[in-house]
Amino acid sequence: MIEPRTDYGSHTWLELRELAQRDDVVVVIPAATLEDHGYHLPIDTDVRLIEAIARGAVERFNAESTPGAAMLFPTAVHGYTPHHMDFPGTVSLRWNVFVESLLDCGRSLCRHGFDRILILNGHGSNAPLVDIAARLINVEHRAAVAMASTLYLTTPESVESLAAERSSEAGGMSHACELETSLYLALAPEQVQMDKAVKEIPDWNENVWSDWPGAGPLSYMPHWSGLTESGVMGDPTVATAEKGRVWLKRARAEAAGFIAEAASRPRAPGADHHQTDRRVSSGR
Ligand SMILES: [Zn+2]
Repeated sequence: MIEPRTDYGSHTWLELRELAQRDDVVVVIPAATLEDHGYHLPIDTDVRLIEAIARGAVERFNAESTPGAAMLFPTAVHGYTPHHMDFPGTVSLRWNVFVESLLDCGRSLCRHGFDRILILNGHGSNAPLVDIAARLINVEHRAAVAMASTLYLTTPESVESLAAERSSEAGGMSHACELETSLYLALAPEQVQMDKAVKEIPDWNENVWSDWPGAGPLSYMPHWSGLTESGVMGDPTVATAEKGRVWLKRARAEAAGFIAEAASRPRAPGADHHQTDRRVSSGR
């Protein structure tokens, strides 16, 4: 049985044709965006973090899991973030263009026989859209197993880890926050300008709040510049590389578990009930 290399794009078409004969190959698509992350983090934060999580997860899964194999698809760098456009550097796709671009990637992969697809999302406002993209791949390709993780560190074990290690108060983890800054410090400390990190937590109440990985019962998203001056939402001043390493490891383990799910989940093509010649049990 042929084993894939980590990167989807590193294969020849002959190799991919052979790999497509397997039924347990998962293509992992990281999704992110370029946008402001405070005075202290680069605009590529979401891209860098989800890529590191996804790559680590693919490598871990391929090293530990048989059967099953995963390939890392190039990151969907540009996502949906029109509410951040007040901040220089932000790039936003229209919501429908973002969904369609993921869908077109899914269509292409399915055409070649890679219909076990996992989208790993690293940017909050992409969440409903990666969900829609995965759903539409399954609708168009009935036998496909397309899934989306709408954000990282969301499982009970991960939420426990966030609570156990964090120093910030409620609201301290949302954007360019204790979490994202710690992760970036763990990956590339030379890119983080900690002396410029500021704490900013909006005036949250029981209806409207945000604290990773959750949010309040009311969805409210005005222009980001109306909520925060620096772009920060949370408390990056308490971030450390040590916490980042713990959370990075946890995020990779979580994502490796999602890959295992996508590799083994039975296909569910369903049946078109418009066909009258199908035998239908009367229940008697
Ligand atoms: Zn971010």
